[in-house]
Amino acid sequence: MDAMAEKKPFEIARETLKQLTAQKLAPTPLNYQRLYNEIAEVPNEPVFPTERLRDIALALPTKTPGQQKQRGLLESAITQLNWEGVKNSLMAYGGFSPPAPSPSPALAVPVVDAPKPAPVEALPATPALTAPALTADFFGQIARVVEYAQPALGQDDERFLEQTQALIKALRQPDADAITVKQLLANYSHRLSFAAEDQAEIKKVLLKLLHLIIENISHLSLDDAWLKGQVDALMTVCVPPLTLRRLDDVEQRLKDVIFKQTESKTRAVQAQEDMRQMLAAFIERLGSMTESTSSFHTQMEASARLIEQAKSITEIAPVLKDVVGATRSMAQDSQTARDALQGMKKKVEATEAELSKLHQELDRVSALARHDSLTGALNRQGLDEAVNREVSKVRRMDTPLCMAMLDIDNFKKLNDTLGHATGDVALAHLAAVAREVMRPQDTLARYGGEEFVILLPDTPLDRGIEAMTRLQRELTKRFFMTGAEKVLITFSAGVAQLVAGETGADAIKRADQAMYLAKRAGKNRVLGA
Ligand code: GH3
Ligand code: MG
Ligand code: MG
Repeated sequence: MDAMAEKKPFEIARETLKQLTAQKLAPTPLNYQRLYNEIAEVPNEPVFPTERLRDIALALPTKTPGQQKQRGLLESAITQLNWEGVKNSLMAYGGFSPPAPSPSPALAVPVVDAPKPAPVEALPATPALTAPALTADFFGQIARVVEYAQPALGQDDERFLEQTQALIKALRQPDADAITVKQLLANYSHRLSFAAEDQAEIKKVLLKLLHLIIENISHLSLDDAWLKGQVDALMTVCVPPLTLRRLDDVEQRLKDVIFKQTESKTRAVQAQEDMRQMLAAFIERLGSMTESTSSFHTQMEASARLIEQAKSITEIAPVLKDVVGATRSMAQDSQTARDALQGMKKKVEATEAELSKLHQELDRVSALARHDSLTGALNRQGLDEAVNREVSKVRRMDTPLCMAMLDIDNFKKLNDTLGHATGDVALAHLAAVAREVMRPQDTLARYGGEEFVILLPDTPLDRGIEAMTRLQRELTKRFFMTGAEKVLITFSAGVAQLVAGETGADAIKRADQAMYLAKRAGKNRVLGA
């Protein structure tokens, strides 16, 4: 340090020129400066372009007090050769917050009051603070990102679609207001997180379904080794992460399996036909056997008579010969029949084994069933799962969830007057109308005989009551026919909104109590719990 401090500028300059020649460097200003700094032992920083920066500062408009302030700060940063200050004032000028204070001492000196403004918040008061072109470009980019993401997020959440459209529209407004955009963006990203979660869940469930289908195929074709291998391979391919390539593989293999299935079905049909023919042949044989048995008896009786009447052994000999012949042919017939019977027995045993396997499979599958076969609504098991799902969503998303319990009015009377079968049609009719009237995200479940539960996610109590009243009105508009008779059904319903800390079952209980009150109040009405 000391040695360098003693060097005078002209000495450094002379030394620099010497070095330039010695090192055979081109005598450019840059080379000169680098060597000069090296010899003077000062950091080789590029020259601070004071004049150029001043030109830029002068070119900036100062229409608003905010712009004037930032230009003042910029000019003072230029005077102090402070890059950090230049950066901060330019950013504030463009409507962006300066970065968090860095430990660099350079920042502390000139821009004492520059980090203070929070330009985004300050925007509504001084909208001209934004550099409009930059902001429009930035918003345009966000709009594009939002648009690109949309196809991946499904189309079924109407509110989310509306929010997305509103956001894109606001982003594309020529004079987009940052505060509005910020609010819309916050709403969008809140909903986006759920939509993304939903999509992930949908993928998971689809994979599970695929597994179920494949497993089911394997249960139907246990005896085919090739098929079994193929099915095992399918199972291993169908695991996350799902890529288009994997899906393509699944598709190819499934096509093979389907082809093989069709083939084995043809074989099964052929086997069935063989069996039918065999059975026909057997019955025919049985017929001819009784025939031959009775002709055998006739022959035996005739032979016996001849033997009785025979006077000598020579008379008996030909009779005996006939008896032996008839007996032999009889025995042969029986043997063939017995063989056929044996074959049949084996086939029947195999079929029985197959049938019992199918029965077991059916039992297993019905235990897995989540739907009521009469109405197509969820059964209790399915409802329990749906309630768990919806309740945990409420906990995560903090959205209102309504549960409605509805019970058909005077159903016993309908059964008694029009018959149980018409009662069944009424149940299916109610379920069909409910499905049509409800939103796709609502869930319909058959709770008991003529009682249904409807889950209404994202719905506060008053809207839940409205929804049930709408269903009630729709049902009174749509009767169904049994023979020539019009049948109209009504129901009474109770609606409960899940409250904090309450279980799904408790909310259903409250809805049930409200439904009971609706019955007491004269039926055909909806009450909130
Ligand atoms: P309320 O207006 O008070 O509800 O009277 P209700 O007659 O509808 O009620 P109740 O509970 O006395 O009768 C329900 C009837 O529903 C009794 C039962 O036979 C009938 N039911 C239950 N399940 C079925 C079914 O699957 N099909 C048919 N057809 N009837 C069923
Ligand atoms: Mg009932
Ligand atoms: Mg009833």
